[in-house]
Amino acid sequence: MQYKRILLKLSGEALMGSRQYGIDPVRLAEYATEIKQVIDKGIQVAIVIGGGNIFRGVAGASNGMDRVQGDHMGMLATVINGLALQSALEDAGVQTRLQTAIKINEVAEPFIRRKAMRHLEKGRVVIFGGGTGNPYFTTDSAAVLRAIEIEADVILKGTRVDGIYTSDPEKDANATKFDKISFQDVLNKGLKVMDTTAFTLSQENELPIVVFDMNTKGNLLKLLSGENIGTEVNL
Ligand code: UDP
Repeated sequence: MQYKRILLKLSGEALMGSRQYGIDPVRLAEYATEIKQVIDKGIQVAIVIGGGNIFRGVAGASNGMDRVQGDHMGMLATVINGLALQSALEDAGVQTRLQTAIKINEVAEPFIRRKAMRHLEKGRVVIFGGGTGNPYFTTDSAAVLRAIEIEADVILKGTRVDGIYTSDPEKDANATKFDKISFQDVLNKGLKVMDTTAFTLSQENELPIVVFDMNTKGNLLKLLSGENIGTEVNL
């Protein structure tokens, strides 16, 4: 296996499946199956989940809501998604812990780095909810931050496209995919992988990012087995 400890970043929108809003239980179950396959191979899995399927602070602010208030709602949305993912994983027979950046003690553990690492060593999936716990950040930043803290080998960003392209493949038929690309080339070419804060944090800490299609069955395991899946951003 390529990596021993991974941090998987899933967007909230990915959980919508074919729906326009909220959580699709079929999609959740599919993700749980994918994750179980890699847990069964002895890989340690931490997950950061987004909240965009429920609420985004920026969207609230564009409708006149206070931005910080909206971001608090967004962070809570990620906890809702975390709870849903936790249930789906446990239904699939995977042990899990949900740790949140904002304390909701009756519902989840608070984020404690050493505890998180211990859970991972024991083969439990650790889901990090609540983003970074601060407004004006994204769950991509939370993913990079947590990955560095828990000493993950890589961030796997599961999306609906199968990697990073020269231009948007959904709009440009001539777009070609990169198998590998450097952090610097992503910046030079103006490609969008994560928001700037998250991307820079990853670059500065030499943490590779792999962008891949999480919606194709078996892809996560193939990627971890060393198959040429997705695009790797590295030094
Ligand atoms: N959020 C925040 N701080 C964080 C992470 C998230 O305030 O550290 C809020 C923010 O409002 C964001 C929302 O939570 O819009 C949902 O997160 P994100 O947009 O990253 O979710 P995704 O796009 O991955 O579904």
